[in-house]
Amino acid sequence: MINSCYLCGSTKDLTRDHIPPKNLFPSPKPTNLATTLCCKKCNEEYTLIDESFRVFASSTLNRSKAGQWVWDSKVMGSSFKRSPKLKTATRNSLVPIKALINGQITPATGMTYPISKAKKYLIRLVKGFTHYFNPDIDYSKATFRVMNIIPNQQIVDMLYQKFFYVERGDGIFRMWRMFVKGQEPMSVWVFVFYDDLMFMVEVE
Ligand SMILES: [Zn+2]
Repeated sequence: MINSCYLCGSTKDLTRDHIPPKNLFPSPKPTNLATTLCCKKCNEEYTLIDESFRVFASSTLNRSKAGQWVWDSKVMGSSFKRSPKLKTATRNSLVPIKALINGQITPATGMTYPISKAKKYLIRLVKGFTHYFNPDIDYSKATFRVMNIIPNQQIVDMLYQKFFYVERGDGIFRMWRMFVKGQEPMSVWVFVFYDDLMFMVEVE
């Protein structure tokens, strides 16, 4: 288990995968990112998802300054130039929304992102962190439930009190994890990107 790809279990063509992906961070990249063994095939499979997820995560209205920087410099500055297809897909995904900006409900534009892709990205994070922190746990046959949640102070306070916490890159990436008492390795994970986009993943 430890000396194999954390996604497919292969022991061939192993390379290292950063968890979370390095592309979420402005330069200089944090030096404390976890890495796990990953086969070349799985690693390559996630290249496009990593890029499209970053477009989505850095597009949200209440993103942090780092998220804004990634959007301006990386998404507009390189992702869209490199891939006109990604740019078109992003433009086609825009929808009018009502957003809470500075406490006011304001008409705005929001990006939609397929839940299937978000799921793939988030389940990969769960598997990667599990391989890194708890390599004895096998989630290869686990069921994953993914939910998008609207962050509020109450949720965040509860997470800090009860969950194991990992932060990378000064609030750019936050993760909380809790094993369900008496029913380990059932677990609940919360991920926050750029202090705005929040997901919960339940594993059983
Ligand atoms: Zn693999």
